[in-house]
Amino acid sequence: MKIGILGGGQLARMMALAGIPLGMEFIFLEPAAEACAAGLGEHLHGDYNDPTLLAELVKRADVVTYEFENVPAATAEFLTSHTLVFPPAEALAVAQDRWIEKNFLNHLAIPTPAYAAVNSLAELTQVMPSFGYPAILKSRTQGYDGKGQSVLHTEHDLANAWQILKGVPAIVEAFIPFEREVSIIAARNRSHEIVFYPLSENHHRKGILRTAQCLPNDSLQAQAEELVSRLLNALDYVGVLALEFFVVNNQLMANEFAPRVHNSGHWSIEGAQISQFENHLRAITDLPLGSTAPVGFSAMINFIGALPDIKQVLTIPNAHLHSYNKKPRKGRKIAHACLRTFTADALQDGIEKLRALADITDKS
Ligand code: AMP
Repeated sequence: MKIGILGGGQLARMMALAGIPLGMEFIFLEPAAEACAAGLGEHLHGDYNDPTLLAELVKRADVVTYEFENVPAATAEFLTSHTLVFPPAEALAVAQDRWIEKNFLNHLAIPTPAYAAVNSLAELTQVMPSFGYPAILKSRTQGYDGKGQSVLHTEHDLANAWQILKGVPAIVEAFIPFEREVSIIAARNRSHEIVFYPLSENHHRKGILRTAQCLPNDSLQAQAEELVSRLLNALDYVGVLALEFFVVNNQLMANEFAPRVHNSGHWSIEGAQISQFENHLRAITDLPLGSTAPVGFSAMINFIGALPDIKQVLTIPNAHLHSYNKKPRKGRKIAHACLRTFTADALQDGIEKLRALADITDKS
């Protein structure tokens, strides 16, 4: 079974690392010459909309998936009409545009922050009184890791924020004074079987995920499972999906979803019976899904921009290092470490040590 992946970054790399033991082979379509997944399969080097490469991918792969959601619509359309593509193109189309995404979530009665589409500074100025300050302005498309967004503190911020976005279509969103940020990762296979991972509690800095901790037995688990099931079923989804939430008054409010394996689920490589990467591959190849049960206590810490001294990371008992083989660069996720322990105390101890190492080398 050969899996075609659009993208050859760390998510593609971790999918391949999970699939190779199952006898799967991989082919990556990736524009960057130095794709960190490339050593684990064939690398089709070129643009996502290159017709020759897409035809090659269709010919060589049994099923196509992707590691990021900003796949050009024409690419998704071409692939869908020529081969099996999971998750479905509709999930991509919805997740690519924050306004369409929020409309979709609200249509399913999945609560979100109040929002409005704005296409000009005049429209932004006009809607602001109904939001109040602070609020957040976000580009509708192409935003990730906090890029393409600005916090609006007063009316004096509007012109500048609009200029930063370079006038692209945007949404303005109420600022949510959340108690926590959590996400749920779920997988749905081609036979419509669904499994859920335990919630993950996520901490961001400068819009980039820093730590994600598995929360077995969280009181919001059942609510999160119910909400994500609505989304999976409405999209007739196949694969892994992550739904991110703000927790407000101990209730879940959706921020966004990712139609792919997700950074907040990297702890599942060591911390769950079967990882999100393997379950994604099982889902898209019509295999039975594996157990998502947690194994001990686990958390993951991202290394941004630079890697700490490997010896220091590995001196921490139970730390597993996942280096993506990427060149260090400001703001770039280049590795993560996962901790899996027998006790909650040992986990907290390890998290503090790893956070300290990550902070020393942090270049975000
Ligand atoms: P996003 O790219 O929308 O996931 O935003 C990145 C991070 O910015 C989130 O994980 C939050 O920490 C923060 N953020 C985004 N939207 C809001 C909001 N409406 N209220 C408060 N914080 C937010």
